[in-house]
Amino acid sequence: MSSNMIPASEGNHPCFYSASRKRFGRIHLPVAPSCNIQCAYCHQDHDCLHENRPGVTSGVISPGEALDRLEKALVKMPFISVAGIAGPGDAFCEPELTLETFERIRRKGLKIALCVSSNGLNVLDHIPSLMELKVHFVTVTINTIDPGIGTMLYKKVKTPHGTILGGEAAQLLIDKQIETVSALKAAHFTVKVNSVIVPGVNDHHIPFLAKRMQGLGVDLMNLIPLIPLRGTSMAGFNPPPPAEIKKLRKLAGQYVPQMRHCQRCRSDASGMLDLKCQNNYA
Ligand code: SF4
Ligand code: SF4
Repeated sequence: MSSNMIPASEGNHPCFYSASRKRFGRIHLPVAPSCNIQCAYCHQDHDCLHENRPGVTSGVISPGEALDRLEKALVKMPFISVAGIAGPGDAFCEPELTLETFERIRRKGLKIALCVSSNGLNVLDHIPSLMELKVHFVTVTINTIDPGIGTMLYKKVKTPHGTILGGEAAQLLIDKQIETVSALKAAHFTVKVNSVIVPGVNDHHIPFLAKRMQGLGVDLMNLIPLIPLRGTSMAGFNPPPPAEIKKLRKLAGQYVPQMRHCQRCRSDASGMLDLKCQNNYA
Protein backbone atom coordinates (compact mmCIF):
# COMPACT_ATOMS: atom_id res chain seq x y z
CA MET A 1 0.00 0.00 0.00
CA SER A 2 1.41 3.45 -0.92
CA SER A 3 2.24 5.70 1.99
CA ASN A 4 -0.93 7.77 2.13
CA MET A 5 -3.51 5.26 0.93
CA ILE A 6 -6.46 5.11 3.27
CA PRO A 7 -6.82 2.00 5.44
CA ALA A 8 -10.22 0.30 5.01
CA SER A 9 -11.03 0.98 8.68
CA GLU A 10 -10.87 4.72 8.04
CA GLY A 11 -12.92 4.76 4.84
CA ASN A 12 -16.08 5.76 6.62
CA HIS A 13 -16.17 9.48 5.86
CA PRO A 14 -19.87 10.46 5.73
CA CYS A 15 -19.21 13.27 3.24
CA PHE A 16 -16.90 11.51 0.79
CA TYR A 17 -18.88 8.26 0.82
CA SER A 18 -22.61 8.90 0.62
CA ALA A 19 -23.36 5.33 1.72
CA SER A 20 -21.61 6.02 5.07
CA ARG A 21 -23.65 9.07 5.98
CA LYS A 22 -26.37 7.28 7.88
CA ARG A 23 -23.93 5.31 10.04
CA PHE A 24 -21.00 7.64 10.68
CA GLY A 25 -20.62 11.23 11.80
CA ARG A 26 -18.00 13.97 11.67
CA ILE A 27 -16.68 16.69 13.92
CA HIS A 28 -15.24 20.02 12.77
CA LEU A 29 -12.58 21.55 15.00
CA PRO A 30 -12.59 25.37 14.50
CA VAL A 31 -8.89 26.13 15.00
CA ALA A 32 -8.28 28.22 11.83
CA PRO A 33 -8.89 31.90 12.67
CA SER A 34 -7.91 33.83 9.55
CA CYS A 35 -7.84 33.79 5.76
CA ASN A 36 -5.14 34.47 3.17
CA ILE A 37 -7.41 35.45 0.29
CA GLN A 38 -10.52 37.58 -0.16
CA CYS A 39 -13.37 36.04 -2.11
CA ALA A 40 -15.84 38.51 -3.63
CA TYR A 41 -18.76 36.72 -1.93
CA CYS A 42 -17.30 36.73 1.61
CA HIS A 43 -16.86 39.38 4.26
CA GLN A 44 -14.97 37.15 6.67
CA ASP A 45 -16.97 37.84 9.79
CA HIS A 46 -18.30 34.30 9.80
CA ASP A 47 -17.32 30.80 8.72
CA CYS A 48 -15.59 30.25 5.37
CA LEU A 49 -18.40 29.95 2.82
CA HIS A 50 -16.66 27.15 0.98
CA GLU A 51 -17.71 24.59 3.58
CA ASN A 52 -20.04 26.43 5.87
CA ARG A 53 -23.29 28.30 6.21
CA PRO A 54 -23.05 32.08 6.39
CA GLY A 55 -24.22 34.00 9.41
CA VAL A 56 -22.96 31.42 11.89
CA THR A 57 -19.86 32.67 13.63
CA SER A 58 -17.91 30.01 15.46
CA GLY A 59 -15.57 30.68 18.33
CA VAL A 60 -12.01 29.76 17.45
CA ILE A 61 -10.38 27.23 19.79
CA SER A 62 -6.75 26.28 20.41
CA PRO A 63 -5.24 22.92 19.32
CA GLY A 64 -5.32 21.79 22.96
CA GLU A 65 -9.00 22.70 23.30
CA ALA A 66 -9.67 20.93 19.99
CA LEU A 67 -8.25 17.65 21.31
CA ASP A 68 -10.29 18.00 24.47
CA ARG A 69 -13.45 18.70 22.44
CA LEU A 70 -12.78 15.70 20.21
CA GLU A 71 -12.23 13.32 23.12
CA LYS A 72 -15.46 14.43 24.81
CA ALA A 73 -17.38 14.16 21.53
CA LEU A 74 -16.11 10.61 20.94
CA VAL A 75 -17.40 9.53 24.35
CA LYS A 76 -20.86 10.93 23.59
CA MET A 77 -20.89 10.07 19.88
CA PRO A 78 -18.71 6.99 19.25
CA PHE A 79 -20.09 6.88 15.68
CA ILE A 80 -17.94 9.89 14.74
CA SER A 81 -15.44 8.53 12.21
CA VAL A 82 -13.70 11.69 11.03
CA ALA A 83 -12.32 14.91 12.51
CA GLY A 84 -11.90 17.82 10.14
CA ILE A 85 -10.64 21.39 10.10
CA ALA A 86 -12.78 23.64 7.90
CA GLY A 87 -12.56 27.14 9.26
CA PRO A 88 -13.79 29.51 10.36
CA GLY A 89 -10.95 30.92 8.16
CA ASP A 90 -8.54 28.98 5.95
CA ALA A 91 -6.82 25.95 7.50
CA PHE A 92 -3.44 26.87 5.98
CA CYS A 93 -3.41 30.63 6.56
CA GLU A 94 -1.86 29.77 9.93
CA PRO A 95 -0.84 26.17 9.16
CA GLU A 96 0.90 25.62 12.51
CA LEU A 97 -2.49 25.61 14.28
CA THR A 98 -3.96 23.02 11.92
CA LEU A 99 -0.88 20.79 12.04
CA GLU A 100 -0.56 21.01 15.81
CA THR A 101 -4.20 19.95 16.17
CA PHE A 102 -3.63 16.90 13.96
CA GLU A 103 -0.35 16.11 15.79
CA ARG A 104 -2.11 16.14 19.16
CA ILE A 105 -4.82 13.81 17.85
CA ARG A 106 -2.28 11.37 16.43
CA ARG A 107 -0.06 11.48 19.58
CA LYS A 108 -3.13 10.55 21.61
CA GLY A 109 -3.60 7.49 19.38
CA LEU A 110 -7.26 8.18 18.62
CA LYS A 111 -8.63 5.90 15.91
CA ILE A 112 -10.17 8.51 13.68
CA ALA A 113 -9.76 9.65 10.09
CA LEU A 114 -8.53 13.22 9.58
CA CYS A 115 -9.79 15.70 7.00
CA VAL A 116 -8.98 19.31 6.05
CA SER A 117 -10.43 21.95 3.73
CA SER A 118 -8.61 24.89 2.16
CA ASN A 119 -8.65 27.41 -0.66
CA GLY A 120 -5.37 25.75 -1.75
CA LEU A 121 -3.10 28.80 -1.66
CA ASN A 122 -0.74 27.53 1.02
CA VAL A 123 -1.13 23.75 1.15
CA LEU A 124 1.71 22.59 -1.08
CA ASP A 125 4.59 22.91 1.39
CA HIS A 126 2.60 21.07 4.06
CA ILE A 127 1.74 17.94 2.08
CA PRO A 128 4.64 15.94 3.62
CA SER A 129 3.34 16.81 7.12
CA LEU A 130 -0.21 15.82 6.14
CA MET A 131 1.13 12.48 4.89
CA GLU A 132 3.08 11.91 8.07
CA LEU A 133 -0.01 12.68 10.13
CA LYS A 134 -2.14 10.36 8.00
CA VAL A 135 -4.62 13.03 6.98
CA HIS A 136 -6.34 11.12 4.20
CA PHE A 137 -9.07 13.53 3.08
CA VAL A 138 -8.42 16.98 1.62
CA THR A 139 -10.91 19.42 0.09
CA VAL A 140 -9.69 22.27 -2.11
CA THR A 141 -12.12 24.96 -3.26
CA ILE A 142 -11.56 25.70 -6.95
CA ASN A 143 -14.18 27.95 -8.52
CA THR A 144 -12.43 28.41 -11.84
CA ILE A 145 -9.25 27.67 -13.73
CA ASP A 146 -9.68 30.78 -15.91
CA PRO A 147 -7.90 33.84 -14.46
CA GLY A 148 -10.38 36.15 -16.24
CA ILE A 149 -13.23 34.56 -14.27
CA GLY A 150 -10.98 34.49 -11.21
CA THR A 151 -10.68 38.30 -11.21
CA MET A 152 -14.46 38.45 -10.66
CA LEU A 153 -14.36 35.93 -7.81
CA TYR A 154 -11.18 36.84 -5.90
CA LYS A 155 -10.40 40.36 -4.75
CA LYS A 156 -6.97 39.83 -3.27
CA VAL A 157 -4.43 37.18 -2.35
CA LYS A 158 -1.87 37.52 0.43
CA THR A 159 1.65 36.28 -0.30
CA PRO A 160 4.80 36.33 1.88
CA HIS A 161 5.89 39.35 -0.21
CA GLY A 162 2.67 41.34 0.12
CA THR A 163 -0.91 41.44 -1.10
CA ILE A 164 -1.61 41.09 -4.82
CA LEU A 165 -4.76 41.98 -6.74
CA GLY A 166 -6.65 41.37 -9.99
CA GLY A 167 -5.39 38.99 -12.67
CA GLU A 168 -2.08 38.43 -10.93
CA ALA A 169 -3.87 37.30 -7.76
CA ALA A 170 -6.29 35.03 -9.63
CA GLN A 171 -3.51 33.44 -11.68
CA LEU A 172 -1.36 32.75 -8.61
CA LEU A 173 -4.26 31.18 -6.71
CA ILE A 174 -5.30 29.01 -9.67
CA ASP A 175 -1.70 27.85 -10.27
CA LYS A 176 -1.31 26.92 -6.59
CA GLN A 177 -4.65 25.10 -6.54
CA ILE A 178 -3.81 22.99 -9.59
CA GLU A 179 -0.31 22.24 -8.33
CA THR A 180 -1.73 21.30 -4.93
CA VAL A 181 -4.41 18.94 -6.25
CA SER A 182 -1.88 17.33 -8.53
CA ALA A 183 0.60 16.78 -5.68
CA LEU A 184 -2.14 15.50 -3.35
CA LYS A 185 -3.26 12.92 -5.88
CA ALA A 186 0.32 11.88 -6.60
CA ALA A 187 0.60 11.20 -2.85
CA HIS A 188 -2.66 9.17 -2.81
CA PHE A 189 -4.84 11.55 -0.81
CA THR A 190 -8.60 11.36 -1.35
CA VAL A 191 -9.43 14.76 -2.82
CA LYS A 192 -12.71 16.64 -3.09
CA VAL A 193 -13.01 19.89 -5.02
CA ASN A 194 -15.65 22.38 -3.90
CA SER A 195 -16.83 24.97 -6.43
CA VAL A 196 -19.07 27.89 -5.53
CA ILE A 197 -21.50 28.46 -8.41
CA VAL A 198 -22.03 32.13 -9.25
CA PRO A 199 -24.61 32.60 -12.03
CA GLY A 200 -23.28 34.58 -14.98
CA VAL A 201 -19.70 34.31 -13.69
CA ASN A 202 -18.54 30.69 -13.55
CA ASP A 203 -21.64 28.54 -14.15
CA HIS A 204 -20.91 28.07 -17.89
CA HIS A 205 -17.31 27.11 -17.01
CA ILE A 206 -18.16 24.20 -14.67
CA PRO A 207 -18.10 21.32 -17.22
CA PHE A 208 -14.68 22.53 -18.43
CA LEU A 209 -13.46 22.77 -14.82
CA ALA A 210 -14.79 19.27 -14.07
CA LYS A 211 -12.99 17.85 -17.10
CA ARG A 212 -9.73 19.38 -15.90
CA MET A 213 -10.32 18.02 -12.39
CA GLN A 214 -10.90 14.57 -13.86
CA GLY A 215 -7.50 14.90 -15.55
CA LEU A 216 -5.94 15.61 -12.16
CA GLY A 217 -7.58 12.52 -10.64
CA VAL A 218 -10.00 14.34 -8.31
CA ASP A 219 -12.26 11.88 -6.47
CA LEU A 220 -15.35 14.00 -5.85
CA MET A 221 -16.78 17.44 -6.68
CA ASN A 222 -19.19 19.47 -4.57
CA LEU A 223 -20.99 22.24 -6.45
CA ILE A 224 -22.08 24.81 -3.87
CA PRO A 225 -24.72 27.41 -4.76
CA LEU A 226 -23.70 31.03 -4.05
CA ILE A 227 -25.32 32.58 -1.02
CA PRO A 228 -25.29 36.34 -1.77
CA LEU A 229 -24.27 38.10 1.44
CA ARG A 230 -25.06 41.67 2.38
CA GLY A 231 -21.92 43.79 2.50
CA THR A 232 -20.14 41.89 -0.28
CA SER A 233 -19.81 42.86 -3.93
CA MET A 234 -22.02 39.86 -4.78
CA ALA A 235 -24.89 40.94 -2.53
CA GLY A 236 -27.04 41.76 -5.57
CA PHE A 237 -26.48 38.45 -7.33
CA ASN A 238 -29.20 35.82 -7.52
CA PRO A 239 -28.32 32.40 -6.16
CA PRO A 240 -28.47 29.67 -8.79
CA PRO A 241 -31.87 27.95 -8.83
CA PRO A 242 -31.97 24.28 -7.79
CA ALA A 243 -32.72 23.18 -11.36
CA GLU A 244 -29.53 24.89 -12.56
CA ILE A 245 -27.40 23.16 -9.91
CA LYS A 246 -29.01 19.86 -10.81
CA LYS A 247 -28.16 20.44 -14.49
CA LEU A 248 -24.56 21.43 -13.69
CA ARG A 249 -24.10 18.35 -11.48
CA LYS A 250 -25.27 16.19 -14.35
CA LEU A 251 -22.83 17.83 -16.77
CA ALA A 252 -19.90 17.81 -14.32
CA GLY A 253 -20.80 14.27 -13.28
CA GLN A 254 -19.73 13.05 -16.73
CA TYR A 255 -16.18 13.70 -15.54
CA VAL A 256 -16.06 13.53 -11.72
CA PRO A 257 -18.51 11.93 -9.23
CA GLN A 258 -20.70 14.59 -7.60
CA MET A 259 -21.51 15.12 -3.92
CA ARG A 260 -25.25 15.68 -3.51
CA HIS A 261 -25.70 15.54 0.25
CA CYS A 262 -23.56 18.43 1.56
CA GLN A 263 -25.19 20.20 4.48
CA ARG A 264 -22.84 23.23 4.52
CA CYS A 265 -22.06 22.54 8.16
CA ARG A 266 -20.67 25.17 10.48
CA SER A 267 -16.99 24.99 11.35
CA ASP A 268 -17.78 23.58 14.80
CA ALA A 269 -20.41 21.04 13.69
CA SER A 270 -20.44 17.56 15.23
CA GLY A 271 -22.54 14.42 14.96
CA MET A 272 -24.36 12.89 12.00
CA LEU A 273 -24.97 14.97 8.88
CA ASP A 274 -28.50 16.24 9.34
CA LEU A 275 -30.51 14.54 6.63
CA LYS A 276 -33.59 16.55 7.59
CA CYS A 277 -31.80 19.67 6.36
CA GLN A 278 -30.73 18.10 3.10
CA ASN A 279 -30.87 20.68 0.35
CA ASN A 280 -33.04 20.27 -2.72
CA TYR A 281 -30.29 20.83 -5.25
CA ALA A 282 -29.53 17.14 -5.86
FE1 SF4 B 1 -14.00 33.80 2.95
FE2 SF4 B 1 -13.35 31.20 2.80
FE3 SF4 B 1 -12.92 32.84 0.69
FE4 SF4 B 1 -11.41 33.05 2.89
S1 SF4 B 1 -11.49 31.28 1.48
S2 SF4 B 1 -12.36 34.75 1.75
S3 SF4 B 1 -12.92 32.63 4.54
S4 SF4 B 1 -14.94 32.27 1.57
FE1 SF4 C 1 -19.55 17.22 4.88
FE2 SF4 C 1 -20.53 19.28 3.49
FE3 SF4 C 1 -20.69 19.23 6.17
FE4 SF4 C 1 -18.28 19.53 5.00
S1 SF4 C 1 -19.98 20.97 4.92
S2 SF4 C 1 -18.80 18.21 6.77
S3 SF4 C 1 -18.56 18.25 3.13
S4 SF4 C 1 -21.70 17.80 4.73
